[in-house]
Amino acid sequence: MAKQKKYIFVTGGVLSSIGKGISAASIGMLMEQRGISVTMIKMDPYLNVDPGTMNPFQHGEVFVLDDGAETDLDLGHYSRFVQGAKFTRKNSFTTGRIYDAVIRRERAGGYLGETIQVIPHITDEIKRNIREAANGYDLAIVEVGGTVGDIESLPFLEAIRQMKGEEGASNVLFVHLTLVPYVAAAGELKTKPTQHSVKELREIGIQPDILLCRTDRVLPKEVKDKIGLFCNVSGAQVFSATDVANIYEVPLLFHEEGLDEEIAEKLGIWSGRPDLSRWASMLKTLHHPEAEISVGIVGKYTDWRDSYKSISEALIHGGVANHVRVNMVYVDSEELEKGGQLELLASVDGILVPGGFGERGIEGKIQAIHYARTHGVPFFGICLGMQLAVIEFARNVCNIAEANSAEFRPNGSAKVIDLMESQKAHTDLGGTMRLGAYPCQLVKEAKPGIKTKAFLAYQAESIIERHRHRFEVSNAYVAQLKEKGLVISGKNFNADTQEELVEMVESPDHPWFLSCQFHPEFLSHPLKPHPLFAAFVAAAKNRNRDNRR
Ligand code: GLN
Repeated sequence: MAKQKKYIFVTGGVLSSIGKGISAASIGMLMEQRGISVTMIKMDPYLNVDPGTMNPFQHGEVFVLDDGAETDLDLGHYSRFVQGAKFTRKNSFTTGRIYDAVIRRERAGGYLGETIQVIPHITDEIKRNIREAANGYDLAIVEVGGTVGDIESLPFLEAIRQMKGEEGASNVLFVHLTLVPYVAAAGELKTKPTQHSVKELREIGIQPDILLCRTDRVLPKEVKDKIGLFCNVSGAQVFSATDVANIYEVPLLFHEEGLDEEIAEKLGIWSGRPDLSRWASMLKTLHHPEAEISVGIVGKYTDWRDSYKSISEALIHGGVANHVRVNMVYVDSEELEKGGQLELLASVDGILVPGGFGERGIEGKIQAIHYARTHGVPFFGICLGMQLAVIEFARNVCNIAEANSAEFRPNGSAKVIDLMESQKAHTDLGGTMRLGAYPCQLVKEAKPGIKTKAFLAYQAESIIERHRHRFEVSNAYVAQLKEKGLVISGKNFNADTQEELVEMVESPDHPWFLSCQFHPEFLSHPLKPHPLFAAFVAAAKNRNRDNRR
């Protein structure tokens, strides 16, 4: 008989932002390290059909998958904790997508004139999506977005309630994350919000099996027993989710409290204890670095750091690879334009210009790139960062004063960054983005006998990376850029359109000046730091050391 598939549903109560995504991902990591094949699914209660067009200011970054799906930043957490799953657009869906599918089916006559209702049609579609994404794995961990009590998440909760009956009680586990605040005036941990949140869940027919309580301290046994009593579980099913300095500590703390053991037992999963030695040694390096360096991230959403979540995580991983702590300094590109924050640029060991859209702040980013190039500061440009590095080089080295991007100057006279040939025919912006994984061929030598930084980092001649962009380096300017010394160290050749696209550029006469059109940050994992981030941090570490001498 095939192994019975298991499901863990993770809901959240009391407040948002108490760490549901990290908690779900940590459970995934522990179960995977116990030798189980794990996938993770995020269900989001908003009506957007996908988060691709949502403002990162409100929603955090858009995390892109290999298949081009534009998902929510929780898929980023999952990718950094779970290694074996292949995430696709099936792993993340919204209420909007569920309704879209049901309404399309109804329009196409798929329901034969039935009355279409939330129960059973919407809930059936939710269950169908969950089962489809879980297919091929032993365990699916499903995170329900939103907070219990929200109107929007009710259909999701009803669907998972039904699944327990359909899949069998021993194959489904409900984990509920709540908050247990410490009230200093009373000198007490307060369990009431948790009691209310569980009461609300039970009213809709879901009895949580495990309670994860976010707190600022480990819960004493009496508090666990009290919560258990009011919430109809035993104290042994109540776990502390204590505040941590670093998210990567969470799975180890859960393990110390026995969470993965309890889950395995409740779901009847036979497996050994997890091997957490590599994870623990990664954490040791994080906590006891040999040195500290700083990297300036030049962007416009400077006060909303979640929009650069994967970049900051990838820098942390690059730090682990080099045994240093990377301190991130956020530099506001619009302040640079006004002449401010130059001292920040002068103080950092490396400068990174991340991806972005729209014209605001781009001249400030170009100034930062100019500074890095002319002062020998290690520089890493990603997506828009690469496009601006090419514009800076075209203006200041190739003397093309008007050099710009068609994104900002659609009728400009020197569009060194332009729409891809194959996309110029499109008149609307929808569907014209180049999204997801594409191969890139690396050039081995920058000059005879001198290897490219790209090849040195990857130690490979062919790589695959994820993309999310509409504009490209114009091939009309490539000869001029090369003649003045810019090295095209990565290219993509599209056999269908016969287009060759610039994927990576670098300057061989600089300690480390490299940019890429793709987003390497999406593929970095704490146990497998991305090679470009590791190489960039290594260059910044060298500069830091040289400066100190
Ligand atoms: N705005 C640029 C483009 O569309 C860069 C996109 C990005 O940085 N993700 O090509």
